[in-house]
Amino acid sequence: MARKFFVGGNWKCNGTAEEVKKIVNTLNEAQVPSQDVVEVVVSPPYVFLPLVKSTLRSDFFVAAQNCWVKKGGAFTGEVSAEMLVNLDIPWVILGHSERRAILNESNEFVGDKVAYALSQGLKVIACVGETLEQREAGSTMDVVAAQTKAIADRVSNWSNVVIAYEPVWAIGTGKVASPAQAQEVHDELRKWLAKNVSADVAATTRIIYGGSVNGGNCKELGGQADVDGFLVGGAALKPEFIDIIKAAEVKKSA
Ligand code: PEP
Repeated sequence: MARKFFVGGNWKCNGTAEEVKKIVNTLNEAQVPSQDVVEVVVSPPYVFLPLVKSTLRSDFFVAAQNCWVKKGGAFTGEVSAEMLVNLDIPWVILGHSERRAILNESNEFVGDKVAYALSQGLKVIACVGETLEQREAGSTMDVVAAQTKAIADRVSNWSNVVIAYEPVWAIGTGKVASPAQAQEVHDELRKWLAKNVSADVAATTRIIYGGSVNGGNCKELGGQADVDGFLVGGAALKPEFIDIIKAAEVKKSA
């Protein structure tokens, strides 16, 4: 079964209501490949989710950037998976490296979050990736495998999971992984899934790349056999996000 190209836009903690409206207008006016070629999901900060959801074109979808690890209640400042479901928000990004590093989210905590969000009916973009230090020490695959294992230990149905491989050294740095570096990890991660989960999950789960993707490098990256799309940060706030969505065409002609 072909894996549909997936392009996610992570707006992180950016924007005013006016800026958000502008981005949505740009997206709404864009000519992009149809929904059977590419799945597009944008992730504004929580407070703008209702605004974006109500104004965004109907062939694009929204994601939250995080959610709480279990049922809501006395957890001041948190937003529960149930609340996102209640607002018809279909997707959530979990395990982003900024949260792993700055907020000390462990592999196990991220695994618990992924399992809980899925159990409530959300679809999950689960982020994994190594730091520069870990890459230089030769432990990239060990790190990525441990992060993925913590999810695999808690999840049995992978149909609503997209894995985002995001090397930490490439996020927001302008230092993109080379197509060969991205393909190597995506291929190894798919092999890991085949060995440790199932051949079917390995063949059907989308593994997208994130880290300084832009309008200039997206086609070559997207042309790699095991790169099924992107998670985009900085460039998702700019009109070039449209070019990144259009990179899905490279798979159509492949
Ligand atoms: C991200 O935050 O997920 C990301 C990939 O950021 P950037 O594209 O800015 O590197």
